[in-house]
Order: sequence, then C-alpha cells, then structure tokens
Amino acid sequence: MQHTPRDPKILLITPTADMSADRHGGRAKCLQRLVRMELPLPTTVALSFACVHAIAQGRMPDMDEIMRHFGEAPLLSVRPSSQDPDWGGPGAILNIGMTDLRHARMCDEVGEEAATSLYMRFIQAWAVHVARLDPDSFHIPDHPGAEDLRAALAAYEAEADEPFPQDPSLQLCEVLRSMARAWEGTTARLLRQAKGAPADAGLGLVVQQMALGVGQGECGSGVIQFVDSLTGQPQVTGRYLSQSQGREALKPGAGAIYLTRDHRGPSFEDLCPEAFAELLRMGALCRVKLREEMQIEFTLQEGRLHVLDAVRVQRSSRASVRIAVALAEDGVIPREEAVLRVEPQALSELLHRHVDPSAPRDLIVSGIAASPGAATGRIVFTATAAQASAARGEPCILVRRETTPEDIRGMHAAEGVLTIRGGITSHAAVIGRGLGLPCVVGASDLTIDRKKRQVIAPGGRRLSEGEVITLDGTSGEVLAGEPAMFEAVLDGAFRTLLDWADDFRDIGVRANADTPQDAQTARNFAAQGIGLCRTEHMFFEEGRIGMMREMIFAKDEAARRAVLERLLPMQRADFARLFEIMQGQPVCIRLFDPPLHEFLPSDRAGMRDLADGLAVSLSDVEARVTALTEYNPMLGMRGVRLGITVPEIYEMQARAIFEATVQASREGDPVVPEVMIPLVSAMREVELVKARVDAVAAQVRTQSGVEFDYRLGVMVETPRAALRAADIAQHAAFLSFGTNDLTQMTYGLSRDDAGRFMSTYVKNGVYEEDPFHSLDLDGVGELLRIGAERGRAGRPDVTLSICGEHGGSRSAIEFCRRQGFDYVSCSPFRVPVARLSAAQLALAARGMRDFRVTLPGY
Ligand code: PEP
Ligand code: MG
Repeated sequence: MQHTPRDPKILLITPTADMSADRHGGRAKCLQRLVRMELPLPTTVALSFACVHAIAQGRMPDMDEIMRHFGEAPLLSVRPSSQDPDWGGPGAILNIGMTDLRHARMCDEVGEEAATSLYMRFIQAWAVHVARLDPDSFHIPDHPGAEDLRAALAAYEAEADEPFPQDPSLQLCEVLRSMARAWEGTTARLLRQAKGAPADAGLGLVVQQMALGVGQGECGSGVIQFVDSLTGQPQVTGRYLSQSQGREALKPGAGAIYLTRDHRGPSFEDLCPEAFAELLRMGALCRVKLREEMQIEFTLQEGRLHVLDAVRVQRSSRASVRIAVALAEDGVIPREEAVLRVEPQALSELLHRHVDPSAPRDLIVSGIAASPGAATGRIVFTATAAQASAARGEPCILVRRETTPEDIRGMHAAEGVLTIRGGITSHAAVIGRGLGLPCVVGASDLTIDRKKRQVIAPGGRRLSEGEVITLDGTSGEVLAGEPAMFEAVLDGAFRTLLDWADDFRDIGVRANADTPQDAQTARNFAAQGIGLCRTEHMFFEEGRIGMMREMIFAKDEAARRAVLERLLPMQRADFARLFEIMQGQPVCIRLFDPPLHEFLPSDRAGMRDLADGLAVSLSDVEARVTALTEYNPMLGMRGVRLGITVPEIYEMQARAIFEATVQASREGDPVVPEVMIPLVSAMREVELVKARVDAVAAQVRTQSGVEFDYRLGVMVETPRAALRAADIAQHAAFLSFGTNDLTQMTYGLSRDDAGRFMSTYVKNGVYEEDPFHSLDLDGVGELLRIGAERGRAGRPDVTLSICGEHGGSRSAIEFCRRQGFDYVSCSPFRVPVARLSAAQLALAARGMRDFRVTLPGY
C-alpha cells in the first residue's frame, strides 16, 4: 500500500483530528476529548471502522504510517473502540514491541524481574489471542526469571513451529489482524447483537504508546473513579499498584493499595499527594466536559502522571439513577437527558417488595439468593403451567430442578423462580435478575416428586402443586404461605427522576389493583388512579367464598338477594378502602367478570364439603355443578352476560360502589367512581346494565341525601365491541381495552392453553413473540385502532385506555401514545417503569436523541 500520510482511516489523536464515534468508535472519540482537555495522554493513533474491516478482509494498512508516530522501538497497546462500549470487543493487548532486544535493554532500566514479567505477559497474550495456542502452556510464575522466559519462548516455538516474532511492526500487524477478525466472528457478532448492536456494527482500534509505570522513582499504575458503583454516591474509589511496593506490584491483583487514606495501610493519597490532587481535578473536569462519571486509568512514571484511558463508570441500577439525577441537579446535563439515560428496566430491579423482617417465617428451605425481592404464588412445576396460571390471573412460583432457555416464557409468567440446582450465574439466576424476578437457586435440600406433583423439603414436609409459597430472593429463603410484606417505596433520586419523567410524559399511567395492598403500592408509585380493579378477586377471600357458593346455589332471586345483602357490606368496605387509599384519584371498578362455576369445587371431596356446609345433598351439589358447567367457559356466561342474566349481582356491586363513594367523599377527597362493564359485545348490553346502575345510583343519592357523580364505561375485549365502538360509546364515558381477552379472541387462542404450543410457534417464527406477553400491534393493534377511531366518532370526548397485561410494556405505551389514548393501566410494580418509558417516548417524539448511545465520547 502506498504511504498516505493523510489517510483518514489512520489518525493520530490530536485536538483537531477529524474523528467521530461513528467512524472511530466511542473509545477513540473519548480519548480525543481527553486530549482536548489537555490530560497527559501518551501518543495514540486511532484506526477507523473501515480500516479495521479492511484488515479483517486481509487488506493491511501501511504499518509505517502507524509506527512512525511512536518513535524508535516503542512499546504499544491496542484496545478496541466500538461505537457503544456496551457492545464489547476483543480484549486489549499490551506490551506489543517486547522482543529479546527490548527485554535486554529493559533489564537495565527497570530490573530483570520487571522486564521479564512484561515480556512473558506479552508472550502469553500473543500465544493465546494471536497464535491461538493452548493457554496452559504459557503460565507465568510468581517471580519469573531468565529460565522461565527461555521456557516460554521454547514452548512458543514448539507449539507454533516458528520462533517468537522479533519485529515490532510485524507484531503490531498480527495483533491488529487478530483483533479485527475476532470482531467479525459469528460468536462476537451474536453477542453484541444481543446487546442491541446492529449486525454491521463497526470496530475501531486504538494503538497507544505504553506508559509503563515502571522505572526509577515512584512508579505504578491504577484506576480511579469518583462515585461508588453500587450506590452512585460521591466517593473516591479505585486501586493503585506501586512498583515501589515491590515487584509483586507488577502482577495483576497483587500489591494493590487504596487510593484514599480512609482505609488502613498505605494509600496513594499519602504516597503521591500531588498526583492524587491532580487526579481529583481531572475527575471533576471529565465529569463536566464528558458529562458523565468516568473511571480514569493512569500510570505514574518517575512521578509523572499519564492518563491512558477513561471509561464510563460501571454502575448498578441504583447508581445509574443516582448519577443521572446528580448530573442534572448539578447542571451538567438537562433533566430531559437524565430521564433518557436511565434504562426503565433498571428501575424495576429496585422496586421490589420484601418480607417484613418482624413477620413470623415458616421456613421450608434455604437456597442461594439469586435475584432480590420477595414473591408469593402457587407452586407450578412447568413453564406451561406458569403461563396458564398467569393467564388465569393467579400468581405462581415456578419450581424447577434447573431452568433452561425453553423455560423463559414460563419465567416471564411467574412471580418468582425456585430451582434446586445451579448457582448465582445459573440460567435461572441470570434471567431472574435480568427480569427483576425474585429468584432462589440451588435449594439442593429440596426434591421434586413428579408423580405426586409435590416438592419434598428436609424432614419430609411435602408441598403440593397449587400451594402458596413465598420466595425471599434477598435472603435465599423459601417460606410457606404469604408472610407480611413491606412494599417498595420510591425515594430520593428515584422519586426525583420519576417526578421529572412525569413533567415530560404525555400519557397517563394508572395501576391495575384489586386489593388495598395493590392500591397502596400503586399510590406509592404515584399511579394516577386505578385503571382496573378486578372485583371477583375479592370474593375468593376467606369467609366470602362460602357466601358466593350459597348465592350460586340459591333457589330463586329472593334467596340470591338475601345472600347478596350479606356480601354488600363487605364489598362496600373493600371499595371504601380503595377510595381512601387513592385519595380522590380515579378508581375504575370492573363489575363481576368470571363464570360462576369458578367458585365451585372441582373435585368430589370439595363437593362433599360444600354439601355439608350448605346442608344439601351431595347429588344436589353435583347436579348444580353439572348445570353450571360450560364447554367453553371463557366464551360462556361470564361478564356482562352474567350481569344481564342474574342482574342482582351487578346491582349489589353498584350499590356497594356508590355507598362507598358517599362514605369516602364525606371523610376525604370527593370520589368520582368509574364503573366498568366487562365482556361487552353489543350496545344493548350496555343500555340494559346502564339503566340498572343509574337506578341504583339514584336510590343511593336519595337514601343518603348526598349528590355524587360516577362514570360508566365499557371494557372493550371482544372483537365485536371494537368494531361496534361507535354505538357502544354512545353509552360509555370511557372505553378500556382489555387486551388479554382481546388477544385471546382475535387469535382464537385460549389464554389457558396457548402455553402448550407457544414456544414451538415462536421458535418456528409463526408468532414473533407470545402475543399475551407482547402486544400484537398488527392484528390486535388494528382492532385497537378501529375501536379507538370508532369510539371517538361515537363520542368525541370518550376516554380511551388499555388495561390488559400489555399496558406497562414500552411497545404498548408507544402504540397508545400514537393513538392518542388517555392512559395505560398496568400492574402496580410496572408503574414506575411505565412512567419512565412514557417520558422517554414523549422526549423521543420531540426529537430528543437516546443519550444512552449517543453520549459524546462514548
Ligand atoms: C383483559 O381481558 O385484558 C383484562 C384486563 O381482563 P382479565 O384479564 O381479567 O380478563
Ligand atoms: Mg378480560
């Protein structure tokens, strides 16, 4: 290749060099910024993506063009420079240029052991990463001497069939080639694509003069950062390896001393006060100029400080929030940028409920605490069962010997995961943490009795499928039942960040909350009300299920009404409590939805119990259960169909809602309840229910002498309701799309049974994703679009929302924003994530870029 001094693909990093992260990678661009800040960076040359790609194809650059910047017999390092540092890249290779000659010279300058150690480390790196030889043959002893070096060179020659290369230029050339090829390999590509890199993401390389940190006077190397990686609080941390500490210091991990004098023993701060002060100054400068918390890699050579590199401080989710907020509060970045910088998923990791430390614990077994937070649910043993359970709205804990990638959908569906095998890096643990799912692994004292569908704990205690257990993913304990919990509460930086997010977002976020506990969590997370309260869950409570059964068995309307009279005060108290907790925020109460037979026992023993309780014959019970059995209950007599056929149930619920409204409004903020009718498919259904609910409202107003308003709305969860939304909206102040049932009915896909074949379908690309997990924007989305359009045509001021499980996901929020929906409603723990996602989407729509990948210098 012709010598081209101004080859733009090979650039000496100077303040004015024409460089960008898009062409040379984030590291190269960041190094240029350090040069511009006049930080003492050794000579560094950047190779562009195009140059590195050409190298991978076998077209080498002019090596003289690179080498000429480094003077005679240089020692060099090469580091990767991908566009986003999270995309990774091949490991750095140091000490390129070590040869027999150079080694001999260095023995005089820095001592034989130090020189030999450097040479041997280069031989090792070269052998493993460039020549791809077996690493076992290149072990470096603690105090390497001449004999060890000779052995290493001989081992290389024996394995590689050629002597160790002695030409620095050729060494560099081969290092560049191996790094370029490593980037283009299939494994590396798949790994970075999993981190969000595009298929054709480029790699740049930076070649830098080594600043060794060995020699006369105080020499050493270190890293320093100015915040704690775990908490994000300001704190100087890092380590320093002093050569004067002895030759041990040259070994990685040995001889390290603390940077500050807050610890026992010698500190860098005491050893080199001037360099320490200078590093503090540089850190502060980087923070402002690079608008980030950086970790600085440095060496000290004969008292002179060199900055080799600066990278974004590694940080926990908690620290990422704290750092973004602190940067904005200090005026380094605008608030918008702070909001854009935090990954919404990071919040969910921080928002876990935990077991009340003072609550009694019925310990079943202990394992490894693999993912924090506590989760309660019924035991299930397969991913399919977990999906079915979630589709029924029953929280579950997936118990497996160990999980495999096949289980991922089940893990998504479960509240928590318990495994018998595996450690902190096992599949279950890694995925659990990724999902923010409480997880206990390696509970090896448990066994699973597959036949009986039970887990057997130490001492022979057995727990069957369906029994409720609690995982404490923070302590690693597995507990029977549901101990008292403390809800996670946002505070400090989280609250600030979410307050800022609320200033930017343009769609409401409510919570699906059925119990006072859910409502309290929703309130803590600043949900703007309850978007869906599934009232049937209230009837499964102790003491009520019996009454429900009595009602179902009632001979006639009068008998039924008598039982409902007894249920009324309980429902009233339920609603009053929700109103009280929500303090005047809207609360949307869905009238009774499931088929009645769900309240009846399914086995003979249960029926016998019921017969005893009701003082009727077993055959009576059996006959009634048979009479209520439906071939397809999800499409049978449930929701509004029940409301019209057995109207006294809805009447009781309406009365409970309005009486609670009167009571709560007397005691606190005025309440405007929202009453929602489920499973509507025809306008007439709404007319009929509305007439009855209006009548109940009028009665309660008269009886109480208190005026109140309420809003009646419809849950759009059948395709016909979406298609007929214009008619339906005539009688509905709001339409809330129930995308769980709507997905079920749009696909003709049973929520309870789809788990059986879902993974095969996804694996074969039939569905891109499980549509119950990720909203199908094409099909179900089209119905939502049609429903929203027609709903608005029927009633221009109709309130539109979504309340299926999809409500908290980014793609659903994006869709709802675009369609001009008023709010999304999701489970309480997803509320903060939804608030942040909604803000980020609104900012993106305003043209703000995603700062997580476009940060200057990254
Ligand atoms: C729905 O169908 O989307 C919904 C929210 O209701 P449920 O899950 O209770 O059927
Ligand atoms: Mg539904």
